Amino acid sequence: KDFRNNVKPNWCPGCGDFSVQASIQRAAANLGLEPEQLAIVSGIGCSGRISGYINAYGFHGTHGRALPIAQGLKMANRDLTVVAAGGDGDGFAIGMGHTIHAIRRNIDITYIVMDNQIYGLTKGQPSPRSAEGFKTKGAPHGAIETALAPLELALAAGATFVAQSFSSNLKQLTSLIEQAINHKGFAFLNVFSPCVTFNKINTYDWFKQNIVEIDDIPDYDPSNRAMAMMKLMETNGMLTGLIYQDTNKKSYADMVTGFKEEPLAHQDLKISEEDFDKLLAEFK
Ligand code: SF4
Repeated sequence: KDFRNNVKPNWCPGCGDFSVQASIQRAAANLGLEPEQLAIVSGIGCSGRISGYINAYGFHGTHGRALPIAQGLKMANRDLTVVAAGGDGDGFAIGMGHTIHAIRRNIDITYIVMDNQIYGLTKGQPSPRSAEGFKTKGAPHGAIETALAPLELALAAGATFVAQSFSSNLKQLTSLIEQAINHKGFAFLNVFSPCVTFNKINTYDWFKQNIVEIDDIPDYDPSNRAMAMMKLMETNGMLTGLIYQDTNKKSYADMVTGFKEEPLAHQDLKISEEDFDKLLAEFK
């Protein structure tokens, strides 16, 4: 299936988000999905545009709110493959409350964060992922706050799937998206996705020099949460690959009474058309 549409992305040439778009399209095709089985939900930011660039259902939500929308979609129709996507500002600042609680809930969706360690759309302010001292025109004295460690936070919140990849590694990124979609629960995938226009520090070369591949760590066991936490701390969060997966925990929909039968989207309204029109009229 072709998950490309005819919308031309208006990302800057070289932006890491192109690879994330291509990897989602490849992963969906490799998994044999049909476009009408896939929904991409995004928030606000350069990366938030991604929901309009893939031939599938797309929902460009409000800032930091991709996850509430994605969770609602999944609960209404659990037959849909739901992928939420956005930037580190969107998911780790205004949207952080949603991120943590969606992780705790273990709802069966995939969340891809395009982590460029800066606010790109608003022209380069430090984001929650910017390192202490990170200077931009908007913060000439350098970022004051400590950089957030999202993968450690996810593990501490009880995540059942934690992975990290890099826009330059299309093969790994595509494979991790496939694994995330196949995971029965909340799959959190952080992607180093450089902003070539405003972030002159965390460049492609910088990531290449600093990334540590999980495959290079002897005897790494992704089912061992303590090991995942330890290796993340040892590598300053620069570990890439499948970092942690728990395949035993049930997903939210499997535990909520009433959602085990037919998805809501497929159920009869159990209300006449006339009464439904009356109900709608009350909200006008
Ligand atoms: Fe990508 Fe940065 Fe350009 Fe936004 S400003 S499209 S994040 S390169």
